[in-house]
Amino acid sequence: MVAERTRAIVLRVVHFGEADCVVTLLSPGRGKLAGVARGARVSRKRFAGMGLGAVGDAQVKERRGQELWSLESFEATRSLAGAAADVAAAAHCGYLIELARELLPAHEPEPGVFALLETALAALEDGPLPVLSLRRFELTLLGFLGMAPALERCAGCGSEWLDGPAQRFDAARGGVVCGQCGGAAMGLPLPPEARRYLVAARGGERGEQFERAAIEAGRDAVLSALHAHLGRPLKSLEFIAKVGRARQAE
Ligand SMILES: [Zn+2]
Repeated sequence: MVAERTRAIVLRVVHFGEADCVVTLLSPGRGKLAGVARGARVSRKRFAGMGLGAVGDAQVKERRGQELWSLESFEATRSLAGAAADVAAAAHCGYLIELARELLPAHEPEPGVFALLETALAALEDGPLPVLSLRRFELTLLGFLGMAPALERCAGCGSEWLDGPAQRFDAARGGVVCGQCGGAAMGLPLPPEARRYLVAARGGERGEQFERAAIEAGRDAVLSALHAHLGRPLKSLEFIAKVGRARQAE
């Protein structure tokens, strides 16, 4: 088969044999794919700057009847040198990459997800992302994948009359649930301000200031949705929490 050129983001690099790597890439037109990069660890010329989160031009070739493609070359147009110097930005990079890698199915074109990830990685050059941007990334990613949690109508009865007492966020039911449909044993509490915070985050609105408790309840709700889709916790989140605790202690 003929090699094709594509923009790509490096989602994972696993060493294999003495000189080779198996590289997971995200391409706008081919989606997530994994390819064997022969000689990648000895040929810096054919595989320039191929680190986690690097964005660049790749030559990939499908191998008939094989799940693994062949990665012929990769040339980074943006590595994450700036982000790597800041431990919190590096932690965010690892998190965005892990989310995209674990949530995306293989071989499904997702140009929207590619653009979302490319933009977020570029923003990391200026330092770690504000929490609102992290929530926006998560909610937009879930939306592209058809997994967006309901935030503006009850996931149980469909009512738009929200923000009454006992409102919850139940990832298993697909989002916010009103007081009538929810129950204390179901999901997590989602106070009205936390729900409004998530709506603002999804829309990228930065105007309103929110209380810390609302920001934290919103975060916990989105993480519970991600957890429900992945079926397990994300490794990079533990690292972000550690970095956060270390900064608070400074
Ligand atoms: Zn309801």
